[in-house]
Formats: sequence, structure tokens, C-alpha cells
Amino acid sequence: PMGVCPSARMALLRDNFTGLLNPWARPDVLTCTSWGAPIIWDSTFNPAVAQQKALQQNFTIGLTVFAVGRYLEKYLARFLETAEQHFMVGQRVVYYVFTERPAAVPRVALAPGRRLRVERVAREPRWQDVSMQRMRTLHEALGGRLGREAHFVLCMDVDQHFRGAFGPEVLAESVAQLHAWHYHWPRWLLPYERDVRSTAALALGEGDFYYHAAVFGGSVAALRGLTAHCARNLRRDRERGLEARWHDESHLNKFFWLHKPAKVLSPEFCWSPEIGRRAEIRQPRLLWAPKEYALLRD
Ligand code: UDP
Ligand code: MN
Repeated sequence: PMGVCPSARMALLRDNFTGLLNPWARPDVLTCTSWGAPIIWDSTFNPAVAQQKALQQNFTIGLTVFAVGRYLEKYLARFLETAEQHFMVGQRVVYYVFTERPAAVPRVALAPGRRLRVERVAREPRWQDVSMQRMRTLHEALGGRLGREAHFVLCMDVDQHFRGAFGPEVLAESVAQLHAWHYHWPRWLLPYERDVRSTAALALGEGDFYYHAAVFGGSVAALRGLTAHCARNLRRDRERGLEARWHDESHLNKFFWLHKPAKVLSPEFCWSPEIGRRAEIRQPRLLWAPKEYALLRD
């Protein structure tokens, strides 16, 4: 079958026997990376099997989101309300909201087994710093209560909302999201950091995919490593007066080049409606909000 690489057949077959993955269901798209990680597209996984496995293992799944400054009023309520409808329904979930104004966090009715925790963060003056500072803050949270109470954690942007089921089929040791605007671009065109002085730099010919920092995840241990790497390299760049092209996302892409993700999510897991219809995008699960930077950014 077109998208499946031979080296991964055994791993995929094993999951097939348990009924979780069927990469052959989508011959129209790539369903396996060159290092053998599944790229999950609609109908290549069985959500009921994923649900059952996660319940048997009694997982607690964390979902972190930052809502600082105007992003709180603009996006947080809808993000959380739609997460209640679509994110890990039936599982044990703990939301972690990071904000400088805990009192302004909307009260969202949560289903049984789901909790919301609010953590206070400082408000960085520049939006780029709010975005980049997330890696350091997440690293600390993963070393604290979040890391003790969750098995797997998904880390997301707030400027989006859920539209379809986003369930335990996404879980793996480390999880990366294909960027909706770039998944079909040739590698040399991908917007990696190219300045060799930056710790995020990738040379031409390097890089597997362009991953979107709006969704990444994994086990607590794997995310500790990821956030440590990115926070350290963000700091090293800043100490030398450098800022990578796409901030924390550039560093995330460098990390996933060096440490391949165990699972890759197709663009339907974080889709931009502005792209319009695409035959291979069958069921968008998370939708970007339109960019309204003039209103939101200082
Ligand atoms: N963010 C925030 N307040 C800000 C800037 C960023 O809360 O002033 C958080 C928010 O979760 C946002 C994420 O950082 O979704 C990344 O920023 P943004 O979504 O603006 O970046 P883009 O998706 O446009 O690259
Ligand atoms: Mn965003």
C-alpha cells in the first residue's frame, strides 16, 4: 500500500491485531513516517478501541492552554466548552489554564471525572515572549502537580476550538501535529529557522515535516525533555540577541528533527478553515480561529 513503509509493518500489524490502527484504509495519504511512526488520518484508527485501551489503563490526560491578556476573553470559554464536547470524552481529564488573571477564567460546566486547574503566570510584555515563555512554564508544571496527576499531556494554543472527536487515539510517547498550511509543501520551502547562529537552525535537507506548535503532546517524561530542550535553546538564543523565525515553534521543529515523534497527527487534528476544502481532510477536529492580531497583540 502506498503510504506505508516496510520497516514499520510489524509495529503497525501489532496495533492492527489489537484493532487500533489500519494504515491501509487511506491509500490517498502518507500514513507512516520513514521512522515507523503512524500518521493518523480519519479512518486509519478505531476510536472505540483507543477509548477502551485508555480506560483499561486508567489514564489521566492533561490539557494545557495559555490565556494571557486579551486572549482570555476572546478564546478561552469557547476552547473549554468545545473541549467538553469533543476532547477525550469519557476519559479522566485535567485542564491546566495558565493566565495572569485567574479570577477572569470563565466557569465552564465540566462532566464527571474532569477538573480544571488555574495557574498564575506573569504577563510578558511582548506576545512573542508570552508564546515562548510557555516552554519554561510547562516544564515547571510538568515537574510539579501536573506531572504527578497526568500520564499524558496535550499542550495547545487557545485560539482554536474543537469541532470533532479528539480522543485517546492521539496518545503516544510523543505526539506532533502536521501544520495545516505546510503539510504538502516541498521540504526546502518549509519555514524552519535557517540562521545557523540560532540553536533552532535546520540546514537545507534537514527536517521531516513542518510541525505546528498549536498542538503537541506526549508522556510526562517525554514532555519534560521536550520543554527542557526548547526552553534552554530559547534562552541561549535570547542571550545572544537572537529570536528564531517562528519563536517556540522553530525550536519545537528542531526538537522533533532530533527526537522523532512517536505519533504524528494529520492536519485535520488542527485545521485552518481559511484553507478551504481539501479532499483528504474529511473530519476537522480542531479549527483555528481567524487571526485578529491587530485586536489582540500589543
Ligand atoms: N498567547 C496568549 N496571549 C498572548 C499571546 C499568546 O495567551 O498575548 C498564547 C495563546 O495560548 C496563543 C499562543 O500563546 O494561542 C500562541 O500565540 P498565537 O496563537 O498568537 O500564535 P500563532 O498561532 O499566531 O503563531
Ligand atoms: Mn495560535
